[in-house]
Amino acid sequence: MFFIRKLGIDLGTANVLVSVPKKGIVLNEPSVVAVSITQNKILAVGLEAKAMIGRTPENIVAYRPIRDGVIADYRITEALLRYLINKTLGTANIFKPEVIISVPAGITSTEKRSVIEAAYKAGAKSAFVVKEPILAAIGAGIPIYEPVGRMIVDIGGGTTDIAVISLGGVVLSVSAKVAGNKIDQAISDYIKRNFNLAIGDRTAEEIKINIGSAITVSEELTQEIKGRDILTGLPRVQEIRTNEIVKAINSELKEIIKTIKGVLRDTPPELISDIIDGGITMSGGTSLLRNLDEMIFRATGVKVNLADEPLLCVAKGAGIALEHLDIYKKSIVSKR
Ligand code: ADP
Ligand code: MG
Repeated sequence: MFFIRKLGIDLGTANVLVSVPKKGIVLNEPSVVAVSITQNKILAVGLEAKAMIGRTPENIVAYRPIRDGVIADYRITEALLRYLINKTLGTANIFKPEVIISVPAGITSTEKRSVIEAAYKAGAKSAFVVKEPILAAIGAGIPIYEPVGRMIVDIGGGTTDIAVISLGGVVLSVSAKVAGNKIDQAISDYIKRNFNLAIGDRTAEEIKINIGSAITVSEELTQEIKGRDILTGLPRVQEIRTNEIVKAINSELKEIIKTIKGVLRDTPPELISDIIDGGITMSGGTSLLRNLDEMIFRATGVKVNLADEPLLCVAKGAGIALEHLDIYKKSIVSKR
C-alpha cells in the first residue's frame, strides 16, 4: 500500500491542483466553493461547485476563495484545503501529510499565516508556503540555484505574478490583479457594447480560448455566440471574429505588459543581461492565449519561452520541491 505523506498544492485563483511526489498531478479542479447561505454550510467544492456558478438559487453562493490572489475568505479556504487533502489521501491514509502550498508573490505575511493556519486546521502535519513564481520556475525546469538571473511571468486567472529569481531567491517580484478573468470581463463588455448582447462569464472564457488572440491575425477564426439581446430581451446568436477579440482585450494585455516592463526597469543590470540571454519564461493558463508570447516579445525585445504544460507548472514545481525538500528548503518562505 502506498501511503501519501507529502502534497503539493497550487492554490490558484482559477484552478487548484494537487501533486504527489512520484505520482504527479492527482487532482485538478476549479477553485470554487458553493455555500448555502441559509444553512451556513458548504455544499460543493471544485468541479461540482463550478457547475453551479450563474445557475444557483439565491440562497446558494459559489465563491472563489482566492479572488485576485488574496485569501478572500478564510473559512472557505480551509474548506477547500480540507477537500483537497481528504480527496487526495482517501480514507485509508493514516499519516497526516506535509504540504507545500503556492501563494501569489504579492501576498502579505498575514495572508501567508492564514493559509498556513488553514492548512493545519484542514489536517496537515506541517505546512509551507512558497511564492508561486518560484514553484512555476521549478516546474518549468529552470535551475533556480544558479547565480543567473531568470524572469518568470505566470499569468493565471486573477493575477499576473512576475518574479526575477537568482540563487534560489526572489530578487524582485510583482503581482498585478490583471489576468484571465479581467480578459473575460473585457470580452463580455465589448460584446455588450458593440452587439447589444449579454453573455455569461463562461461564454466569454470559451470565446477567448477558442478564437482569441493577443495580436491581429490575417486568418481569423470565428465563433457563434449565444446570448440575450439587451434591447429585446430575447435570445440571439451572433457571429464573432478573432480580430474583434484582439480589440476587446487590448487594454488588459497592455496592463500586463506595463507590469512586465516595470519589473524589467527595476531589475539590476547584471541580471537584465542574463534575462536578455535566457529570455522570459511564461507559465499559467493565460500564457496559452494565442500570440501573447509574440506580443510580449514585440513590446519588450526579450524573447519569451512558453513553459511546457503552463497550467501545470506550479503544481509540478510543488511536487519537485517536496521531493527534494533538502535542496529547496532555502526557498521556502515560511512555516508556522
Ligand atoms: P490560477 O493560477 O490563477 O488558478 P491558471 O494558471 O489555472 O490560473 O489559469 C487559468 C486561466 O487561464 C483562466 O483565466 C483561463 O481562462 C485561462 N486559460 C486556460 N486555457 C487557456 C487558453 N488556451 N487560452 C487562453 N486562456 C486560457
Ligand atoms: Mg497559478
